[in-house]
Amino acid sequence: MDFFFPQNITCLICQKPIDPNNTYSLCKDCFEEMTFIKEECHKCGKPVINRINFDKSDDEEDNLADEDIKEIEDNCIILTGNNELKDAVNLKIDDDEEYILEKFEEYREGYGKVEEKKIEYSRCKFCENKNFYFDRAISCIEYCDKSKVLVLSLKYYGNTYMSRYIAQVMRDKLEFEQLSADYIIPVPLHKKRMRIRGFNQAEKIASYISEYTNIPIIDCVKRNRNTKRLYALNKFQREKELKNAFEVKGGSEKIIGKRIILVDDIFTTGTTVNEISKKLKIYGVDEIIVLTFLTRNID
Ligand SMILES: [Zn+2]
Ligand SMILES: [Zn+2]
Repeated sequence: MDFFFPQNITCLICQKPIDPNNTYSLCKDCFEEMTFIKEECHKCGKPVINRINFDKSDDEEDNLADEDIKEIEDNCIILTGNNELKDAVNLKIDDDEEYILEKFEEYREGYGKVEEKKIEYSRCKFCENKNFYFDRAISCIEYCDKSKVLVLSLKYYGNTYMSRYIAQVMRDKLEFEQLSADYIIPVPLHKKRMRIRGFNQAEKIASYISEYTNIPIIDCVKRNRNTKRLYALNKFQREKELKNAFEVKGGSEKIIGKRIILVDDIFTTGTTVNEISKKLKIYGVDEIIVLTFLTRNID
């Protein structure tokens, strides 16, 4: 619990005294400098600058061959029927996982097993060629000198009261997008980094979002390895660094067929949340919405 916080007394960013009713405990100047993301890419959530049209006409005629269906059934990875779901949990995850997921997606799309067909109608320049396993990523505010203060202050100065306001912004975004879910999962920290920092910022934020929305948190993703900081690495190095860094553990049967909100503070290249999403989809999660507080225009 965060018992002491300067709620509604001073601006969270510049410390100027403020009116107690100010939204998100910010002064007018700081609030106005924030760019709340209103028009974003429907996949990665980055602010749309150069929208391109995603032409899906090529795939639409595709149907799966019978052998493919048989292969999927043989592998017990049909995640749409209850009995098969149990097997899916026990599915051995190996190097074929990319292939399995691909086939599974084809299967669902080709045979309309999903109640609401998810349509990707546009992708931005950042993500048009990326293979994201989450269904959608949503960020609230553009990363800038002002907005980053909130996250840095939380993460590196231990001002855990920030998480309450960050969560308020994220809750409002969920409401705006009219989104709900069965569970919230915070992006885990490795225990070593957790020991140094003393808390996981994603967990702090997620617990407030859970309180505001009544969506329960489920703690079923574990970070196996303490990964290097990713920002200095290129795309290939990031993917390599994160491969098998996460594991789905106890409680995984609860997430089968469910919609999950995966919570983190910042969405940069999306490699971390993508790696977690991949694991969650293998364990039978139906839909993943990544919800982050900040994102950059370009990464
Ligand atoms: Zn201010
Ligand atoms: Zn995008």
